[in-house]
Amino acid sequence: MHGTESCVDVVDVRSEITGLFVDLLQHVAIVAHTLLDLDRWLVNRPIVRTTSLPQIRAKVPDREAGEVRMDPKQVVVDRFSTVEPALRDISTWLYENPEIAYEEHASSARLVEFLRDNGLTVEYPAWGLETAFDARSGRKGPEVVICAEYDALPEVGHACGHNVIAAAACGAGVALAGLTEELGFRVRVLGTPAEESYGGKIDMIEAGAFEGAAAAMMIHPSPEDMVDPAFLAVAHLDIDFYGKESHAAFAPQVGINALDAAVQAYVNISTLRQTLYNTDKVHGVITHGGGAPNVIPQHTSLAFYVRAATMTRLTELRKKVEACFEAAALATGCSVEITPRGHTYTEMHNDPVMVELFSANSAALGRTMGSAAGHDPGAAGSTDMANVSRIVPTIHPMLGINSAPAVNHQREFAAHTVTPDGERAIRDGAIAMAWTVVDIATANRWDELGASLPS
Ligand SMILES: [Zn+2]
Ligand SMILES: [Zn+2]
Repeated sequence: MHGTESCVDVVDVRSEITGLFVDLLQHVAIVAHTLLDLDRWLVNRPIVRTTSLPQIRAKVPDREAGEVRMDPKQVVVDRFSTVEPALRDISTWLYENPEIAYEEHASSARLVEFLRDNGLTVEYPAWGLETAFDARSGRKGPEVVICAEYDALPEVGHACGHNVIAAAACGAGVALAGLTEELGFRVRVLGTPAEESYGGKIDMIEAGAFEGAAAAMMIHPSPEDMVDPAFLAVAHLDIDFYGKESHAAFAPQVGINALDAAVQAYVNISTLRQTLYNTDKVHGVITHGGGAPNVIPQHTSLAFYVRAATMTRLTELRKKVEACFEAAALATGCSVEITPRGHTYTEMHNDPVMVELFSANSAALGRTMGSAAGHDPGAAGSTDMANVSRIVPTIHPMLGINSAPAVNHQREFAAHTVTPDGERAIRDGAIAMAWTVVDIATANRWDELGASLPS
C-alpha cells in the first residue's frame, strides 16, 4: 500500500499546495481591493493635503490682532465695483425723475432702499426733515459723514448734477462700510435735502446731525476738476411791494404802482453794481409782476440772492441791496417787505489735509485735480456744505464731466450727467472719497484735521 499510499500522499500534497495557492491569490486580491479603496478614499477626501494648512490659516483675518484681509484700498474698489451698475441706474433714474427742494420724496426713498439693501442701518425720515435720511455703519471710532444731495432745479431738472452727487455718496458709503471694523471708524451717508434753496444742511446742523463728526465730504459735478473750490456766502431774499390797484387808463392817478417799485428796485441794483467787488453778486427775478395790463398792479414780488466772499462782506452788501428796495418803495409810494428765504450760507473752508489726500487719490485714479489758486475767485457759487465746513473738517471737490461749453444750471449740463463722463465722476468721486478716509484711518491722522476751522 505504500506504493498506493505514496500515490495517495502525492495527490494529497498537490491538492494541499493548490489550496494554499488559491488562498494566497485570494489574499492578494483582498489586499489589492483594499489598496484600491484606500486610493479612491484619498482622492475623494475634502482636504487633500495637510502640508498647506499654515497657508490656509494665513488667509483668515485675525481681527483680535487687527489683521486686515487685503489692501483696504482694493477692498474699496471691489465693493464699489459690485454696486456700480446699481449706482448708474440710480443716477439715471434721478435724472429722469427730478424733484425740487424739500419735495425729494421718491428720490430719498430710492436712495434709502439702496443703502438698506447694502447693509447700512438707515433712519428715514431723519433730523426733522421728511426727505432727509441718515445711513450708518460701524460701531466705534471717529465718524465720517458723506453728504448726498439729490434736489433738482425748477424747469431745468438735474442741471446741477445732484444725481451724480447722490450716487457717488452712496458708493463711497457702501465701499467704506466694509472696512469700519478693521480700520476702526464709523461712516454715515447723510441725505441732505434742499441745497439749491433753503439750505437743508443748516436745518440738520441745528438739529445736531453733524455733532461729533470727525470729517465731512461730498463731491460735485462741474465743467472741470477742482479740489478746493471757493464758495461765496449767500443770503436768499423774497421781496414784496404793495401799492393800490386802479383802472390803468380811466383813473391811474389814484393808483400806486407796485410794478414800478419792482422795476425801480431792479434799476437801483444794476446801478449799484459798478461799486461792487468781483466776488459780490446780486441777481434776481420778478416772480409776480401784476395780473392784467389794464389794472395798476397792487402787488409785485421778487426773489434775489446776495453773495459775497465772506460773511462780513455779505452783511455790508446786504444793507446796500436792501436800501435799493427801500428806496424804490419810497420813490413810488409803495410799502416793501423783505423776507429771508431759508438760511444764509457761509463761505467755504476746505480742510488742507483732506484736500491733499483727495488730490493724490484722484491722481491715482487718473484724474488730475486743479486748484482754486490762480483761478478767478469771482467765478464761484455757493453751497450749504460751507456751513458744515465751519464746524467740521470738510472737502467739496468739483469733478469735471466734460460738459464744456455747458455749465451748471443749464439743461445741457443735466444731459451730461448721464454720459460715460458722468458715470466716471460717480466712480472717481466715490473711490477717491473712500480712499481719503482709508488714508486718514490707516495713518491715524484724525488729529491733523480741522486746521481750517474758524476759531
Ligand atoms: Zn446748483
Ligand atoms: Zn449743486
